[in-house]
Amino acid sequence: MKHAEVKFDTACIHAGQAPDKLFGGVSVPIYQSSTFAFEDADQGAARFSGKDDGYKYTRIGNPTNAALERCVAELEGGKFGLATATGMSAISTVFMTFLGAGKHVVSTGSVYGPTRTILEKELTRFGVESTFVDSSDANSVKNAIKKNTVMVYVETPANPTLSITDIAACAKIAHDAGAILVVDNTFCSPMLQKPLQLGADIVLHSMTKFLNGHSDVVAGMLVTSNQEMMKNMHRVICQMGGTIDPHQAWLVLRGVKTLALRVKVAQENAMKLAEELEKHPKIEWVKYPGLRSHPQYELARKQMSGPGAMISFEVKGGVKAGKTVMDSVGLSTLAVSLGGIESLIQHPASMTHASMGPAARAEAGITDGLVRFSVGCEDYEDIKKDLWQALDKI
Ligand SMILES: *Cc1c(COP(=O)(O)O)cnc(C)c1O
Repeated sequence: MKHAEVKFDTACIHAGQAPDKLFGGVSVPIYQSSTFAFEDADQGAARFSGKDDGYKYTRIGNPTNAALERCVAELEGGKFGLATATGMSAISTVFMTFLGAGKHVVSTGSVYGPTRTILEKELTRFGVESTFVDSSDANSVKNAIKKNTVMVYVETPANPTLSITDIAACAKIAHDAGAILVVDNTFCSPMLQKPLQLGADIVLHSMTKFLNGHSDVVAGMLVTSNQEMMKNMHRVICQMGGTIDPHQAWLVLRGVKTLALRVKVAQENAMKLAEELEKHPKIEWVKYPGLRSHPQYELARKQMSGPGAMISFEVKGGVKAGKTVMDSVGLSTLAVSLGGIESLIQHPASMTHASMGPAARAEAGITDGLVRFSVGCEDYEDIKKDLWQALDKI
């Protein structure tokens, strides 16, 4: 049966995988081998010349990694996947492949911190220019396009403000300018958003988050349907060395099997929590794409198949109140990262976004009392009880 013909939940369990040919193992074997033996010199030569597509060395390709690549590519509705050591390795591979001296990037301003740092601090050393905009306003993306723009880079929903960017609109803007659109789909996972179908050229993930889902692996993925683009990204990663380890790939493959189950439960919890938080007297506002009060509620409904499991809310009383909540939760874990099976809570103004300084935070909409909550799969009543007792401490 072709997996393209099955539903998403089924594909999470089966895509890219078949019982092992040697012994019939139902779980994909972990090919924990750095190198692969050739039958003779001719076969070795054929593998290096590309006439034989068998494996030769794990930095260049590995059967366990390939199963994960087929799996996630299929879930994203793309043709080719490339698994990477971390999400940042996926992102730096995209940048190294498509950018160069004199080239320009238009990027969502509130992208993942290190992504912005690479563009602002590292790539400028090599003559790459970047402009950061509030991409939730498609016009600001359009206005930032220059003659030398080769890439539009978007993250939606944005972190931690949960602003939504119109992917289809950005694809058109990028393509009209002869540029490519790259989308970081980490916050949604392919379960909730499929950027390639909306016109993106490349979609990428930190699989550390929802795809693996168990807060025990760092990993990344690149997916495209463009063979030339994949060939170029594969060439770059083989040389630069951001390849995933096969054991890590196997763990992610196992995590992906429950992606649909996890996201469904976490999203249900998040929806209820967002609705109830909105009525809580200690809460100033709640931002969640599933609430009608979200400024881009309609766009979220159009572009995403569900509002996801990430909530931002503002507690009354600024940094001090935010910290009190952090210090008072018991069940929810005070930690950065997101998309795990367990609820994770963090306070951007004093943690992930502290180094930005108050002015830059205000400009990005990251207020002092903003709390980011990655809702997990625990029983809803337990999550609520824990958070409510923490809010009572303010
Ligand atoms: C975590 C994260 C990354 C970086 O991924 P790593 O696996 O930590 O390297 C990139 N983008 C987003 C949106 C993330 O949340």
